[in-house]
Amino acid sequence: MSFTAPKGTFDLLPPDSETYLAVREAMARPLRLAGYGYVETPVFEETALFERGVGESTDVVTKEMYSFVTRGDDHVTLRPEGTAGVVRAAVQHRLYAGQLPVKLWYSGSFFRYERPQAGRYRHFSQVGAEALGVDDPALDAEIVALGSQAYADLGLRDVVLLLNSLGDATCRPVYRQRLQDFLRALDLDEETRRRVEINPLRVLDDKRPEVAAQVADAPLVADSLCDECRAHYDEVRRHLSAAGVTWQEAPRLVRGLDYYTRTTFEWQHAGLGAQSAVGGGGRYDGLSESIGGPAFPGVGWALGVDRTMLALRAEERELPTPTSCAVFAVPLGAAAKDRLLAVVNALRNKGIAADLAFGDRGLKGAMKAADRSGATIAVVAGQRDLDAGVVQVKDLRTGAQKPVAFDDVVEHIEKGLT
Ligand code: AMP
Repeated sequence: MSFTAPKGTFDLLPPDSETYLAVREAMARPLRLAGYGYVETPVFEETALFERGVGESTDVVTKEMYSFVTRGDDHVTLRPEGTAGVVRAAVQHRLYAGQLPVKLWYSGSFFRYERPQAGRYRHFSQVGAEALGVDDPALDAEIVALGSQAYADLGLRDVVLLLNSLGDATCRPVYRQRLQDFLRALDLDEETRRRVEINPLRVLDDKRPEVAAQVADAPLVADSLCDECRAHYDEVRRHLSAAGVTWQEAPRLVRGLDYYTRTTFEWQHAGLGAQSAVGGGGRYDGLSESIGGPAFPGVGWALGVDRTMLALRAEERELPTPTSCAVFAVPLGAAAKDRLLAVVNALRNKGIAADLAFGDRGLKGAMKAADRSGATIAVVAGQRDLDAGVVQVKDLRTGAQKPVAFDDVVEHIEKGLT
């Protein structure tokens, strides 16, 4: 019997795995520069946290959660998203009582029982940011700008930012009602009718042509915003313009999670087909209260690492990744292996990436391994070299080789590499 990775999951192997790390790093860098602190929360939480936080009418909660009952009878769920857990942690540790805003970022694995396809997996990776405790529209603009910066730093050109406001607890119910009145008059199938009753905004997101055509004239949330929400949205846009961020108004943009209020946004990439959203987020002023916390507004986003990788590939963008090896040591015989292991260790202690031909492959096989390693320098030693107190240092790019006294070799290489 043999095993493969479960459906909808994949293994990340070198060298792609290095690019993944570089993508995460590029996403985190603007956040660190803006004072966001790293947070790590459990990969599973109480199921009720997501039911209340993400919303019981969402696809994520009704269809996509990995939920189970533990041996101790606890109802837990592998996290389908990051915000609910981060807000839970911030409330639990009373961060609302300290310096505001609380700025946090995270990176990790998320789980949704989805129908797997290109860019949609059951286990995926996100980098996320949350700014809590202040409902200043400048903070919405900051967080959006930081996401756009990450894509710019990655060198992606075909990313567009879509922006909308979904209103708040005052005006959203009014809009919801208007939208439901409109949708109830349409010719829709049974399941979509049900959705009109429980989550009408999602119907606007229906990609089927027969539905999309009918909702083309649906009322827009922008026309129902209350004065406060309108003013907030105007301010967000003013700050974004001042920050040099470009976006497209997307009056039909709705998102899959219920907690969003006011500003919502998504980054889309043109080269990804159906799963075009590479990242998204918004403001979620009521989330804390919905999970039993105090009034604690927030705004945040999550960027999909997997889809960003696909976007980089679609644009044929190569990310610089650290060379895995600069120096490759080739010992000929056991005594030489002892000496060269010491050289390799000394190089590593100096911060130089070095490796050695393990196993007894002979000179030819070991030199092939040296070439494959990407190293620019090979250090070769046999018994005759040891007797003479030297090692052979070979420049793998030019083929030039010369003996260097054993005691000088680390310094010699260090100088040659810098
Ligand atoms: P969401 O939490 O749904 O707003 O997702 C934020 C981002 O995470 C999306 O824009 C995607 O890039 C990524 N994402 C969400 N679900 C998946 C999935 N099933 N597979 C891969 N990436 C995903």
